[in-house]
Amino acid sequence: MATLDERLDRVFGSKTAKILADALDLHTTGDLLRHYPRRYEKHGELTDMVSLRDGEQVTVLAQIASVTTRRMRSRRGSMTEVRVTDGHGVLSLLFFQQPWLEKTLRPGLHGLFAGEVSTYGGRRQLVHPDFELIGAADAGEAGTELAEEYVADLIPVYPATAKLPSWKIAKAIQTILDPLDSAEDPLPEDVQRRHGLRGLTQALRGIHRPLDENDVKHARRRLKWDEAFVLQAALAQRRFYAAALPAKERTPRDGGLLTAFDARLPFTLTAGQREAGATIAAELAREHPMHRLLQGEVGSGKTVIAIRAMLQVIDAGGQAALLAPTEVLAQQHHRSISALLGPFGQAGELGGAEIATRVTLLTGSQGAKERRAALLDAASGAAGIVIGTHALLQEHVQFADLGLVVIDEQHRFGVEQRDALREKARDARPHVLVMTATPIPRTVAMTVYGDLDTSTLTELPAGREAIATHVVPAADKPRYLERTWERLREEVGRGGQAYIVCPRIGGDDTAPGHENLTPSATDSPPGLTAAQRAAVEDHPGGPGARSGQRDDDGDGGIDPPDDGSPRRSPLAVLELAPLLEQGPLAGLRLRMLHGRMPPDQKEAAMRAFADGSVDVLVATTVVEVGVDVPNATAMVILDAERFGVSQLHQLRGRVGRGAEPGLCLLVTEAPEGSAARDRLDAVAATLDGFELSRLDLAQRREGDVLGAAQAGRKKSLKLLTLLADEELIREAREEATAVVDGDPILASHPALAAAIAAMLDDEQAEFLEKA
Ligand code: ADP
Ligand code: MG
Repeated sequence: MATLDERLDRVFGSKTAKILADALDLHTTGDLLRHYPRRYEKHGELTDMVSLRDGEQVTVLAQIASVTTRRMRSRRGSMTEVRVTDGHGVLSLLFFQQPWLEKTLRPGLHGLFAGEVSTYGGRRQLVHPDFELIGAADAGEAGTELAEEYVADLIPVYPATAKLPSWKIAKAIQTILDPLDSAEDPLPEDVQRRHGLRGLTQALRGIHRPLDENDVKHARRRLKWDEAFVLQAALAQRRFYAAALPAKERTPRDGGLLTAFDARLPFTLTAGQREAGATIAAELAREHPMHRLLQGEVGSGKTVIAIRAMLQVIDAGGQAALLAPTEVLAQQHHRSISALLGPFGQAGELGGAEIATRVTLLTGSQGAKERRAALLDAASGAAGIVIGTHALLQEHVQFADLGLVVIDEQHRFGVEQRDALREKARDARPHVLVMTATPIPRTVAMTVYGDLDTSTLTELPAGREAIATHVVPAADKPRYLERTWERLREEVGRGGQAYIVCPRIGGDDTAPGHENLTPSATDSPPGLTAAQRAAVEDHPGGPGARSGQRDDDGDGGIDPPDDGSPRRSPLAVLELAPLLEQGPLAGLRLRMLHGRMPPDQKEAAMRAFADGSVDVLVATTVVEVGVDVPNATAMVILDAERFGVSQLHQLRGRVGRGAEPGLCLLVTEAPEGSAARDRLDAVAATLDGFELSRLDLAQRREGDVLGAAQAGRKKSLKLLTLLADEELIREAREEATAVVDGDPILASHPALAAAIAAMLDDEQAEFLEKA
């Protein structure tokens, strides 16, 4: 039984092993066997030359049409040009000072040719390509020698590099695969049987040396199962161990803060809120920690569930910490929770109720005195609820008895940050409740958040008016833009308020890598770059955002326009606000809000908007997450194609929160028919966040979904796609959970245990590299 963890330098010698390690990050026999072909070339079906792109590393299967060698005019020596064809197009292969190649590369032969595509004189070419001839018996020495490797119909083409062409990889794999009798299989036999899966060895042969397409299909399914199963088993183990830890039980109590809060609540809970609340209440009362993900539609009322959980814990003598992703949101939570609790949140103050607790805000931007008081509140236990940003994670923040950690809009925080906060409970582990900003697809819940149990809120509170969303094509119909500002004035005229969202702050933020340090950024954990800090502070990543947005100027989320975006730089708050104020919105009360403002100014702007003394807030995506001003009825998103689907959904969730219907206008110059425009049309067409989350997932790469904290996981998921393989992932999760429940330390599943260890190693390694 082969273990597939032999080091490659033992098999190939150090030179080849070094190339495999450096070029492809492959270190063990198992790594190499799981370097799967990207596609297969078919005998008799040559590569389509039209599909080649400049700069691409390619391996093409083609037939040699002609060979000529000539002296070069400008330099000494010769140049051999080999023209190869797919039957239609022609590709030139250029070799310098190798006239003898004429003997080898003879017209009529077939071969694989690998190199970087370039264009010269209008013709596609590969300069000094690597090649391997594939031939019939009459093909000459080079051909016959190599022919037998390609008896099969399908020729695997591997993700290759300049140093290592596809067929060299194929040969290396063959060296290991040929003598392999049976590999240790991480998938238990009964699981294989139940799901009609092939054994590992057979699957590896099938994917690397398929006889036909059916072979490939079966092999891929089986190897996808490996990926899903190993990941799910790792997650099941994590759940199992976490659930076995001791926690303090926080049993609900009558006549405490929770009872008082419920009595004050100005609305009745939805059925979904009651159900999720009951689950959470029961789990808090257990002597093992809760690890629950609460996900739900934007505006479905997750916060109130979190508050009720926190109050149950306080009633039972503990404290709760609420970790918010931005300063704006932390401040808002502090305001709104204080308001909802009224006298019950004013312990020690005039007018505070007898059973009252204290709600304390802790952020990095606070003055020393304020901060000391907050730290003291937390450490002494005087504060039942401590709300904060990353500042909460710092070492010197201590709690008297931390019973519950609530993480709002989780996707901005990695697993290790969750752990940092968890450590702050003294003897036992705290209960943990994680809330997502937008609905997430089931498969994402099962993988990215797979170590958590899940509750989902699908319904919105009754009486919510719908949000009408329209795409405003600003380029072809300037009149529509004028109409947009008119509509906005009408909303304000009717007593409503509006947001205008721009992708950029403006000023000096266009320079790449500029400093975007807000004072509040100092409360971010150490070890982050300024850009990362700015990103964490103001710019949601994760399921709500598109790739690349996280590490640029922090506030705006500007992707390099993929398609349809105008070429000018994206609209900016600092530039636009004065223009609107003097132009189409003259007479309205405008205010700016963006991540580069000092925290007290942010707070002041939000407060002014919340209390109605500002009509229009011109903002960046700082308002994306969680901001809750029920009187805001309209939102105009400019350069809307710059934002991701879930991000737009999350943004528009800021309006239509009160009794008036919401209006969201997506202004774009993206032309009709472009992918960007289609995306906006999709957002306008539905209010179903779950549907949009799937669309969002379809448009982003898996690695972006999994996020930096799971970088290693990205590497371990090669064949599996979160969108297409939902059913498989669900089945694998069930099977893996059953295996782990029956045998938590996997004593009788050594191959599975080894596969998990290897995967976690990768994750660890990637994580350390990033740090
Ligand atoms: P999200 O789930 O997006 O975080 P919030 O928790 O911010 O949503 O809730 C959105 C708004 O709905 C808040 O103003 C909140 O007070 C209100 N709300 C929550 N639950 C209900 C309910 N059952 N009925 C009416 N309004 C509610
Ligand atoms: Mg929220």
